[in-house]
Amino acid sequence: MNKKTLLSTLLMMAAFGALAGQPVDTGHGGAVATISGPASEAAMEILDAGGNAIDAAVAAAAALGVTDPFSCGIGGGGFMLIYSARDKRVIALDHRETAPAYFNPAVFQPEGTPLPWREAVPHGISVGVPGTVRGWHEALARYGTMGFERVLAPAIRIADEGFPVGPNFHRINALNEAKFARFTSTSELFLEDDRALPLGRQFRNPDLAETYRQIARGGVKSFYEGEMARDIVAAANQPPTRPGVEVLGARMTLNDLRDYETRLRQPVRSTYRGYEIYGMPTPSSGGIAVAQALNILETFDLSKLPRDEVEHLYLEASRLAFADRNAYVADEEFTDVPREGLLSKAYARERAQLIGPAAARGPVAQGDPYLFQHDLSVPLRPRPAALGAEPAHTTHLAVADREGNVVAYTFTIESWGGSGIVVPGRGFILNNEMTDFDFSGPHPNVAEAGKRPRSSMSPAIALRGGEPAFTIGSPGGATIITTVLQTIVNHVDLGMSLADAIAAPRMSQRNADRTQVETLLGFPGSAQAVALERLGHQWTETDQIGAANGLQFNPDGSVTAASEPLRHGGGSAIVQKQ
Ligand code: GLU
Repeated sequence: MNKKTLLSTLLMMAAFGALAGQPVDTGHGGAVATISGPASEAAMEILDAGGNAIDAAVAAAAALGVTDPFSCGIGGGGFMLIYSARDKRVIALDHRETAPAYFNPAVFQPEGTPLPWREAVPHGISVGVPGTVRGWHEALARYGTMGFERVLAPAIRIADEGFPVGPNFHRINALNEAKFARFTSTSELFLEDDRALPLGRQFRNPDLAETYRQIARGGVKSFYEGEMARDIVAAANQPPTRPGVEVLGARMTLNDLRDYETRLRQPVRSTYRGYEIYGMPTPSSGGIAVAQALNILETFDLSKLPRDEVEHLYLEASRLAFADRNAYVADEEFTDVPREGLLSKAYARERAQLIGPAAARGPVAQGDPYLFQHDLSVPLRPRPAALGAEPAHTTHLAVADREGNVVAYTFTIESWGGSGIVVPGRGFILNNEMTDFDFSGPHPNVAEAGKRPRSSMSPAIALRGGEPAFTIGSPGGATIITTVLQTIVNHVDLGMSLADAIAAPRMSQRNADRTQVETLLGFPGSAQAVALERLGHQWTETDQIGAANGLQFNPDGSVTAASEPLRHGGGSAIVQKQ
């Protein structure tokens, strides 16, 4: 897309958003916030039919797989945090894509040197074993009340009937034209004469409707075994390329699909100014990084500081947390992560002392969390920081029900448009999650068979006095961590409502020279920007960061659902009315 088209699309999106205002709703029933109107309505349909938050979350996710096929879907994986009102505890359901059995670091080094990240994406080798359908199955079987047949019904309807291509769908499709044009199945679904489907065109996906129908009828096995599994393996191993397109095929097997497992994990629990914050453990780096940055921030009395100084500390705490995240965090089934040290308040106090009155000049080194572990036998292993490309995609949704269950769910196919490979006849794109690995070692996040690549996805649920207080999450690659962190700081420390905290301009400092800021909301040149520049902060600009969704549980027993006014075309927030 050229600059002019990008500008006019952004202006159109801004106009759409301005007309719509911020999607915020308050009431006393179940609640949902997603980035897609039809997905929020799908969740509401299920809540109204007596389903719980888990049922509704899967319904919304399946609908997002239709309306936001470039960000998420059953070709990918995700992390679902569930607050169970009955058990009064938070559960983390990991259904991250997994490296097939043939994997090793050399897969990303076909000529002996690591492929440039971008070049590795549109190939079969970037595809991990998809986890989403088994994740939905586990969520429904353990915590839901409905089956696939009921919760997939709204998404099947949307896929059959279709919807007019909107500005955001068009924008992301256009950004992917070259990648999609490589594959016949993908260009047939999303392109017309090699160009993104035009605005306003009715987009239908009958293949995906039929795929969902088969899952509704046949259950989880119909995805991981049999015809569908064969189609997935074939698409990854011999992608349906246009003549002349060279592609590195995977060596995935039917066993890889059949043996795919979700993991029920204990979430990362930390405390922050009277809140208990629950986040995703590894293979996501999100829960640990958010908790560590909050621990660093807690050593300062932010309530006495002006906004620019609070934001300065937020950026520097984020920088320090990222230095450690980049160096130490990966799938703990494969590597020793000094989790206890990273989460220790004493370690945070030590790291906080590195923050000065002005922004650090450039990246800082990782610290030594091993000294803060009880188990000092774990060796000190300084690692080179991994600073790979981490662009912004994915989707996050939040649902609560009348019983008090809460779901915070982030799921993805990694890049916008994933690997670019639509499984022929099945209507969904395969992920490129394997490119979340580091392409060369030594590094804890190096690719290995059966391993899950390090993620940044950070669904978060905050409790206060043992009850849900708010939940937040976002897409955006590594910026997910900063978006979740900044939204918590905006809400808890700067006193914004969760809706305002979501709408506020975002800044993302990930241990780089410059902090990434958004042009969409006019941050560069603003008084806020100038105040931070006086403290030494420098910017690099991007159009927008993330697309957050959240729920705030109010003292009067009501709940406020909040989504994005502008980012990603604006979202949708609905609360049931009694
Ligand atoms: N693959 C990314 C992760 O797991 C999410 C995709 C994105 O938002 O860019 O962290």
